[in-house]
Amino acid sequence: MSNCILCKDELKPEEGTLIWRGDDCRVILVNDPDLPGFCRVIWNHHVRELSDLTYGERELLMNLVNAVEEAVRHVMHPDKVNLAALGNQVPHIHWHVIPRYKDDAFFPGSVWSARTQQTLGSALEERRLKTLDLPAAIKSAIAALS
Ligand SMILES: [Zn+2]
Repeated sequence: MSNCILCKDELKPEEGTLIWRGDDCRVILVNDPDLPGFCRVIWNHHVRELSDLTYGERELLMNLVNAVEEAVRHVMHPDKVNLAALGNQVPHIHWHVIPRYKDDAFFPGSVWSARTQQTLGSALEERRLKTLDLPAAIKSAIAALS
C-alpha cells in the first residue's frame, strides 16, 4: 500500500535502527528515549491480520517474536516484557517487544497510556548502554532458530 509507512520501509535514524532483515520479516530497535530496548518485528509485505498469513508464516513470525523477546530479556533484564500487536494506526502486521520496568514512564499501564512517573536519568542511561548489546544478541537468537 502506497500510504503505509511500514511498506515504505524508510527508517530515519531518529526513529530507530534496523537490526536484522530476512526475506519475510525485519527487526528494528526503536529509538524511544523513555523505553530503551523497545524492538519491533515487522512483516515485510503488507498483510493486515495474523490470520491472513499461512500457518508456516505465522510460525516463522512468532518464532522471531520469541527470539527477540529472549534477547531482550537476556540483555535488558526487564521486570516484564510486553508483547503487543495492535495495528489500529498502521494495519500492517508488526509486533512490539517492549522491556518494561517498574520505574518506567508508563508503568504499570501500557506504553501508549498516560505517563505515571519520571524515570531517573541514571536508570535510563544504564538501559541505553545495555541496548548496545541487543543487535548481536538478537541476531544470535534468530540464528539459533534455523
Ligand atoms: Zn504496509
